[in-house]
Amino acid sequence: MKKAAKPAGISKGQCRCGKIRLEIDTPARWAWHGHSPASRRAHGAAYATYVGSWRKRLRITSGKSGIARYEHKASGTVRSFCATCSTPLFYERVRAPHMINVPRTLLEGRTGRQPLYHIAIEELQERAYTGEPNPAAMLFDEQTSALDPEMISEVLDVMVDLAREGMTMMVVTHEMSFASKVANRVIMDKSEIVEDALKTDFFGSPRSDRAQKFLSKILSH
Ligand SMILES: [Zn+2]
Repeated sequence: MKKAAKPAGISKGQCRCGKIRLEIDTPARWAWHGHSPASRRAHGAAYATYVGSWRKRLRITSGKSGIARYEHKASGTVRSFCATCSTPLFYERVRAPHMINVPRTLLEGRTGRQPLYHIAIEELQERAYTGEPNPAAMLFDEQTSALDPEMISEVLDVMVDLAREGMTMMVVTHEMSFASKVANRVIMDKSEIVEDALKTDFFGSPRSDRAQKFLSKILSH
């Protein structure tokens, strides 16, 4: 799920009445099923599936002036919809200012992302058919390495949300402060595992020479 160097295609979309037309560059950034009461009510559905796009990769190609916005002050979220036909269009969150989420059902063709996880799964309604189970674990390979510095925290926030929801994640990262905050186990590998420890042990009193040397270098900067 690294930042794509170049868009590979376009997925177009529209509201029910066709006044609002939009397109995103694909592959999109991410996709998920949202089960929160807010999403359910906003969509009038058992859950909503969203595709997240970089804001700069989304274009409203017609009908911009016909978009109505509803801001929920307490959460800072903004939902937009077609003022004519009331189709939900966008879901924006304060914590991810560079991202904009579009209901999957508006977009035609492939978006380059399968919805692989569920947000607020504890709110899953009995009547909702979700198709596939949550993954048992997710693997991230240097998730933030190709990102602009200001984008990194947004991606890390999403991972923290997943961790809070109980998702098991195996993360390869250079973000040491992130690892020291959220990891349960830290494994250091140099073609073989040189240290496997709880994070407090790893960052506090590493056993291996390699980890001691590594930490002495990064912590002095
Ligand atoms: Zn419309």
